[in-house]
Amino acid sequence: MDNLYQEEQLRGIAEECQEFEHVISAMGYGFSMLNVAPERFLRRCPDCVHWLGGSCNIFLHEKAEWGGQ
Ligand code: SF4
Repeated sequence: MDNLYQEEQLRGIAEECQEFEHVISAMGYGFSMLNVAPERFLRRCPDCVHWLGGSCNIFLHEKAEWGGQ
């Protein structure tokens, strides 16, 4: 599913999105489990709780603004 979109899009949209919530932190485990500081963790739409297999409305809206695909 991720391959449908360009990596640049997945990161660019997540960077600017106010609603981003990482699946790991949403599960309540925290980032210590990943052994990486949150600020160093890659922010990508597919790792967001709202992604839902690419059906996030914010993503779809932003994607259209990026020129769509
Ligand atoms: S999946 Fe949706 S809510 Fe999550 S960062 Fe991307 S656009 Fe924002």
